[in-house]
Amino acid sequence: MSMCDSCHAGCCRSFAVPLSGADIVRITSDCQLSFWDFVCRWEDRNGEIAQKYAPHFYFDDEPETPFVICLIHNESQTWPGTRKCIFLEESPATAEHPLGTAGCGIYGSRPAACRAYPTKLNPTSDLVIIHDVPPRGRPSTDPVYTLCPRAWEPEDFDTIQSLQDLIVAEFEMQFFNRVAAVWNRKPGAFAAFPDYLRGIYSQRVRKDSEADERHQEQTQIRRAA
Ligand code: SF4
Ligand code: SF4
Repeated sequence: MSMCDSCHAGCCRSFAVPLSGADIVRITSDCQLSFWDFVCRWEDRNGEIAQKYAPHFYFDDEPETPFVICLIHNESQTWPGTRKCIFLEESPATAEHPLGTAGCGIYGSRPAACRAYPTKLNPTSDLVIIHDVPPRGRPSTDPVYTLCPRAWEPEDFDTIQSLQDLIVAEFEMQFFNRVAAVWNRKPGAFAAFPDYLRGIYSQRVRKDSEADERHQEQTQIRRAA
């Protein structure tokens, strides 16, 4: 049994969760949701949300503001006045669990950043490194923002699954960084962003011959830029 199973999920209440385009496509399809049901843009002027992992996107209504594409947070039903991920499902407090328990409502489709937490890859991408999780996820003193009840140990993780989750997260976020680089050359409206993503991600499976042509086109565009 994982430590998370009996936790109130302080992580899902504390952190803005950056999404990649692949996360958005998967959740939209698996959960039959629209982009606007769960995606928002979080202002990130000091890079605290992006953490050199997620890209900054710019939009024409606020051309100077860097945004990270994230999951929406809404108000907790169990702990009014506090916030949580829109997909977090809460159970009330009990004597055994004074902060209640909580679980992910889209566990099988959850974003890559959620699958990877609290780990990262080492510089050569062959080891899983466990973050030192701080006691609290937000500066607030509210107890719902406390994080893991004890330190994580290597034995807590499935070696192969953790490595695979991290590699997919890294790969997809690198691709999303390239998507951002192209979008930011001529930022459009946030309202147009879902269609833009749909166009890009609908073309990621191609025949071998088409892929060669596409690669040559992209090389020419990069040289001309
Ligand atoms: S998607 Fe699931 S795991 Fe990720 S923050 Fe939301 S509730 Fe937590
Ligand atoms: S705060 Fe720690 S133990 Fe609790 S759900 Fe998040 S990762 Fe798991």
